Amino acid sequence: MSALLNEIPVLAEGELSSLRPPALWAPPEYSGSLEALQAKEAELSERLAGIAARFFRARFASSLAAEDMVVTDAILRGSPAVRAGIRVFTLQTGRLHAETMAVLEAVDKHYGYKIEQFTPDPEAVENYVRKHGLNGFYDSLDARKLCCGIRKVEPLNRALSHADAWLTGQRREQAVTRADLPFEEVDEGRGIPKFNPLADWSEAEVWAYLKRHRVPVNALHAKGYPSIGCEPCTRAVRAGEDVRAGRWWWESKDSKECGLHEQNIKH
Ligand code: SF4
Repeated sequence: MSALLNEIPVLAEGELSSLRPPALWAPPEYSGSLEALQAKEAELSERLAGIAARFFRARFASSLAAEDMVVTDAILRGSPAVRAGIRVFTLQTGRLHAETMAVLEAVDKHYGYKIEQFTPDPEAVENYVRKHGLNGFYDSLDARKLCCGIRKVEPLNRALSHADAWLTGQRREQAVTRADLPFEEVDEGRGIPKFNPLADWSEAEVWAYLKRHRVPVNALHAKGYPSIGCEPCTRAVRAGEDVRAGRWWWESKDSKECGLHEQNIKH
Protein backbone atom coordinates (compact mmCIF):
# COMPACT_ATOMS: atom_id res chain seq x y z
CA MET A 1 0.00 0.00 0.00
CA SER A 2 1.39 3.43 -0.89
CA ALA A 3 2.25 5.98 1.77
CA LEU A 4 -0.42 8.26 0.29
CA LEU A 5 -3.20 5.69 0.82
CA ASN A 6 -2.12 5.29 4.43
CA GLU A 7 -2.81 8.97 4.98
CA ILE A 8 -6.47 8.76 3.88
CA PRO A 9 -8.61 8.72 7.04
CA VAL A 10 -10.88 5.70 7.41
CA LEU A 11 -14.38 6.37 8.68
CA ALA A 12 -15.75 4.19 11.43
CA GLU A 13 -19.12 2.45 10.82
CA GLY A 14 -21.13 5.07 12.79
CA GLU A 15 -19.45 7.98 11.01
CA LEU A 16 -20.16 6.45 7.61
CA SER A 17 -23.88 6.16 8.24
CA SER A 18 -24.00 9.81 9.30
CA LEU A 19 -22.90 10.76 5.78
CA ARG A 20 -25.80 8.98 4.15
CA PRO A 21 -28.78 11.17 3.27
CA PRO A 22 -31.56 10.75 5.86
CA ALA A 23 -34.45 8.47 4.96
CA LEU A 24 -37.38 10.53 3.77
CA TRP A 25 -41.04 10.18 4.67
CA ALA A 26 -42.85 7.49 2.70
CA PRO A 27 -46.55 6.61 2.61
CA PRO A 28 -47.30 4.33 5.59
CA GLU A 29 -48.45 0.76 5.19
CA TYR A 30 -52.02 -0.05 6.21
CA SER A 31 -52.23 -2.89 8.74
CA GLY A 32 -56.01 -2.99 9.23
CA SER A 33 -58.46 -5.32 7.54
CA LEU A 34 -60.11 -4.78 4.18
CA GLU A 35 -63.51 -4.87 5.92
CA ALA A 36 -62.50 -2.05 8.24
CA LEU A 37 -61.31 0.04 5.31
CA GLN A 38 -64.49 -0.67 3.36
CA ALA A 39 -66.55 0.43 6.38
CA LYS A 40 -64.60 3.67 6.50
CA GLU A 41 -65.16 4.20 2.78
CA ALA A 42 -68.89 3.53 3.13
CA GLU A 43 -69.04 6.05 5.96
CA LEU A 44 -67.26 8.61 3.79
CA SER A 45 -69.78 8.04 0.97
CA GLU A 46 -72.63 8.49 3.44
CA ARG A 47 -71.12 11.68 4.77
CA LEU A 48 -70.79 13.12 1.26
CA ALA A 49 -74.30 12.00 0.27
CA GLY A 50 -75.66 13.64 3.44
CA ILE A 51 -73.91 16.92 2.63
CA ALA A 52 -75.14 16.86 -0.99
CA ALA A 53 -78.70 16.21 0.24
CA ARG A 54 -78.64 19.06 2.78
CA PHE A 55 -77.00 21.77 0.67
CA PHE A 56 -77.46 23.07 -2.87
CA ARG A 57 -74.09 24.73 -3.39
CA ALA A 58 -71.50 22.77 -1.39
CA ARG A 59 -67.88 23.31 -2.46
CA PHE A 60 -64.80 21.20 -1.79
CA ALA A 61 -61.53 23.16 -1.48
CA SER A 62 -58.87 20.77 -2.75
CA SER A 63 -55.13 21.25 -2.25
CA LEU A 64 -54.63 18.35 -4.71
CA ALA A 65 -52.58 16.49 -2.06
CA ALA A 66 -53.24 12.94 -0.75
CA GLU A 67 -56.21 13.51 1.60
CA ASP A 68 -57.89 15.81 -0.87
CA MET A 69 -57.54 13.21 -3.61
CA VAL A 70 -59.42 10.72 -1.41
CA VAL A 71 -62.30 13.18 -1.07
CA THR A 72 -62.11 14.12 -4.76
CA ASP A 73 -62.25 10.45 -5.77
CA ALA A 74 -65.19 9.77 -3.45
CA ILE A 75 -67.07 12.76 -4.87
CA LEU A 76 -66.32 12.07 -8.54
CA ARG A 77 -67.07 8.34 -8.28
CA GLY A 78 -70.07 9.01 -6.05
CA SER A 79 -73.73 9.15 -7.03
CA PRO A 80 -74.80 11.71 -9.65
CA ALA A 81 -76.27 13.79 -6.80
CA VAL A 82 -72.93 13.86 -4.99
CA ARG A 83 -70.91 14.57 -8.14
CA ALA A 84 -73.24 17.38 -9.18
CA GLY A 85 -73.91 18.70 -5.68
CA ILE A 86 -70.34 19.11 -4.39
CA ARG A 87 -68.13 21.10 -6.75
CA VAL A 88 -64.37 20.72 -6.46
CA PHE A 89 -62.10 23.73 -6.78
CA THR A 90 -58.48 24.55 -6.01
CA LEU A 91 -56.52 27.69 -5.22
CA GLN A 92 -54.05 28.38 -8.00
CA THR A 93 -51.67 30.55 -6.00
CA GLY A 94 -49.19 31.03 -8.82
CA ARG A 95 -46.47 29.41 -6.66
CA LEU A 96 -47.44 25.73 -7.02
CA HIS A 97 -45.04 22.94 -8.02
CA ALA A 98 -45.20 21.63 -11.59
CA GLU A 99 -46.08 18.25 -10.03
CA THR A 100 -49.16 19.80 -8.39
CA MET A 101 -50.25 21.37 -11.67
CA ALA A 102 -49.92 17.94 -13.29
CA VAL A 103 -52.56 16.60 -10.87
CA LEU A 104 -55.15 18.90 -12.47
CA GLU A 105 -54.52 17.28 -15.84
CA ALA A 106 -54.52 13.80 -14.29
CA VAL A 107 -57.94 14.41 -12.71
CA ASP A 108 -59.33 15.66 -16.02
CA LYS A 109 -58.00 12.56 -17.78
CA HIS A 110 -59.03 10.06 -15.07
CA TYR A 111 -62.50 11.37 -14.18
CA GLY A 112 -63.34 13.67 -17.10
CA TYR A 113 -63.62 16.54 -14.61
CA LYS A 114 -62.04 19.96 -14.70
CA ILE A 115 -61.25 21.23 -11.22
CA GLU A 116 -62.07 24.92 -11.09
CA GLN A 117 -59.07 27.17 -10.34
CA PHE A 118 -59.23 30.41 -8.39
CA THR A 119 -56.30 32.77 -8.86
CA PRO A 120 -55.14 35.76 -6.80
CA ASP A 121 -55.82 39.38 -7.70
CA PRO A 122 -52.82 40.30 -9.94
CA GLU A 123 -52.69 43.86 -8.60
CA ALA A 124 -52.51 42.66 -4.98
CA VAL A 125 -49.70 40.24 -5.91
CA GLU A 126 -47.82 42.99 -7.72
CA ASN A 127 -48.12 45.34 -4.73
CA TYR A 128 -46.92 42.61 -2.37
CA VAL A 129 -43.90 41.80 -4.53
CA ARG A 130 -43.02 45.47 -4.87
CA LYS A 131 -43.15 46.00 -1.10
CA HIS A 132 -41.88 42.68 0.30
CA GLY A 133 -40.12 41.00 -2.63
CA LEU A 134 -41.20 37.83 -4.43
CA ASN A 135 -40.22 35.66 -1.44
CA GLY A 136 -40.86 38.21 1.32
CA PHE A 137 -42.79 35.57 3.28
CA TYR A 138 -39.50 34.22 4.68
CA ASP A 139 -38.86 37.49 6.55
CA SER A 140 -41.69 37.52 9.10
CA LEU A 141 -44.89 35.79 10.12
CA ASP A 142 -46.83 38.92 9.17
CA ALA A 143 -45.34 38.98 5.67
CA ARG A 144 -46.05 35.25 5.29
CA LYS A 145 -49.66 35.65 6.41
CA LEU A 146 -50.07 38.60 4.07
CA CYS A 147 -48.87 36.49 1.13
CA CYS A 148 -51.22 33.64 2.10
CA GLY A 149 -53.98 36.21 2.46
CA ILE A 150 -53.47 37.46 -1.08
CA ARG A 151 -52.73 34.18 -2.81
CA LYS A 152 -55.04 31.88 -0.83
CA VAL A 153 -57.56 33.50 1.51
CA GLU A 154 -58.98 36.14 -0.83
CA PRO A 155 -59.39 33.62 -3.71
CA LEU A 156 -60.98 31.20 -1.21
CA ASN A 157 -63.43 33.90 -0.16
CA ARG A 158 -64.35 34.41 -3.81
CA ALA A 159 -64.69 30.65 -4.39
CA LEU A 160 -67.04 30.35 -1.41
CA SER A 161 -68.96 33.58 -1.93
CA HIS A 162 -72.05 31.72 -3.17
CA ALA A 163 -71.51 28.45 -1.31
CA ASP A 164 -73.91 27.28 1.37
CA ALA A 165 -71.38 24.78 2.83
CA TRP A 166 -67.78 23.81 2.22
CA LEU A 167 -65.53 20.81 2.68
CA THR A 168 -61.85 20.25 3.41
CA GLY A 169 -59.53 17.23 3.47
CA GLN A 170 -58.12 18.02 6.95
CA ARG A 171 -57.42 15.24 9.46
CA ARG A 172 -57.02 15.48 13.24
CA GLU A 173 -53.70 13.66 13.24
CA GLN A 174 -52.06 16.12 10.85
CA ALA A 175 -51.11 18.84 13.32
CA VAL A 176 -51.49 20.14 16.85
CA THR A 177 -53.66 22.86 15.37
CA ARG A 178 -56.08 20.18 14.11
CA ALA A 179 -56.27 17.86 17.15
CA ASP A 180 -59.89 18.78 17.97
CA LEU A 181 -61.15 18.89 14.41
CA PRO A 182 -64.82 17.82 14.21
CA PHE A 183 -66.61 16.29 11.20
CA GLU A 184 -68.96 19.28 11.07
CA GLU A 185 -68.24 22.76 12.36
CA VAL A 186 -69.44 26.26 11.68
CA ASP A 187 -67.31 28.62 9.66
CA GLU A 188 -68.11 31.62 11.82
CA GLY A 189 -66.66 34.15 9.40
CA ARG A 190 -68.76 33.01 6.49
CA GLY A 191 -71.75 31.84 8.49
CA ILE A 192 -71.90 28.49 6.71
CA PRO A 193 -71.17 24.90 7.80
CA LYS A 194 -67.73 23.47 7.14
CA PHE A 195 -67.18 19.73 6.86
CA ASN A 196 -64.03 17.68 7.41
CA PRO A 197 -65.12 14.25 6.16
CA LEU A 198 -61.66 12.74 6.81
CA ALA A 199 -61.30 14.21 10.32
CA ASP A 200 -61.08 10.77 11.93
CA TRP A 201 -59.03 9.05 9.19
CA SER A 202 -55.45 7.92 9.78
CA GLU A 203 -52.64 8.56 7.32
CA ALA A 204 -52.41 4.81 6.63
CA GLU A 205 -56.13 4.67 5.78
CA VAL A 206 -55.70 7.56 3.35
CA TRP A 207 -52.91 5.75 1.52
CA ALA A 208 -54.71 2.42 1.58
CA TYR A 209 -57.70 4.10 -0.10
CA LEU A 210 -55.54 5.81 -2.73
CA LYS A 211 -53.80 2.53 -3.61
CA ARG A 212 -56.96 0.43 -3.58
CA HIS A 213 -58.78 2.77 -5.96
CA ARG A 214 -55.74 3.68 -8.06
CA VAL A 215 -56.33 7.37 -7.49
CA PRO A 216 -53.94 9.73 -9.31
CA VAL A 217 -51.64 11.40 -6.78
CA ASN A 218 -49.07 14.16 -6.73
CA ALA A 219 -45.63 12.82 -7.75
CA LEU A 220 -44.05 14.77 -4.86
CA HIS A 221 -45.46 12.26 -2.38
CA ALA A 222 -42.93 9.74 -3.74
CA LYS A 223 -40.13 12.25 -3.02
CA GLY A 224 -40.77 12.61 0.73
CA TYR A 225 -43.59 15.17 0.72
CA PRO A 226 -46.55 14.09 2.91
CA SER A 227 -48.16 17.54 2.82
CA ILE A 228 -47.94 19.86 -0.18
CA GLY A 229 -48.54 23.58 -0.46
CA CYS A 230 -46.76 26.28 -2.44
CA GLU A 231 -43.34 25.37 -3.84
CA PRO A 232 -41.23 27.88 -1.85
CA CYS A 233 -43.02 27.06 1.43
CA THR A 234 -42.97 23.25 1.28
CA ARG A 235 -40.12 20.79 1.54
CA ALA A 236 -39.67 17.05 1.97
CA VAL A 237 -39.61 15.65 5.53
CA ARG A 238 -37.59 12.89 7.14
CA ALA A 239 -39.07 9.56 8.16
CA GLY A 240 -40.62 9.95 11.61
CA GLU A 241 -40.96 13.73 11.39
CA ASP A 242 -44.31 15.47 11.82
CA VAL A 243 -46.21 15.23 8.51
CA ARG A 244 -46.56 18.99 8.36
CA ALA A 245 -42.94 19.67 9.35
CA GLY A 246 -42.15 20.56 5.74
CA ARG A 247 -44.77 23.33 5.58
CA TRP A 248 -43.40 26.79 6.57
CA TRP A 249 -40.60 24.85 8.27
CA TRP A 250 -39.02 28.06 9.58
CA GLU A 251 -42.08 28.81 11.76
CA SER A 252 -43.33 27.39 15.07
CA LYS A 253 -45.74 24.42 15.02
CA ASP A 254 -48.55 26.53 16.49
CA SER A 255 -48.75 29.02 13.64
CA LYS A 256 -48.70 26.61 10.71
CA GLU A 257 -51.98 27.44 9.06
CA CYS A 258 -52.38 29.59 5.98
CA GLY A 259 -55.53 31.40 7.06
CA LEU A 260 -57.83 29.03 5.16
CA HIS A 261 -58.57 27.30 8.47
CA GLU A 262 -58.06 30.21 10.85
CA GLN A 263 -60.40 28.70 13.43
CA ASN A 264 -57.86 25.88 13.95
CA ILE A 265 -55.48 28.32 15.64
CA LYS A 266 -56.16 28.88 19.33
CA HIS A 267 -55.79 32.61 19.95
S1 SF4 B 1 -47.75 29.18 1.11
FE1 SF4 B 1 -46.03 30.61 0.81
S2 SF4 B 1 -46.08 31.25 -1.37
FE2 SF4 B 1 -48.04 30.23 -0.86
S3 SF4 B 1 -49.39 31.87 -0.39
FE3 SF4 B 1 -48.53 31.21 1.59
S4 SF4 B 1 -46.65 32.41 1.93
FE4 SF4 B 1 -47.31 32.72 -0.21
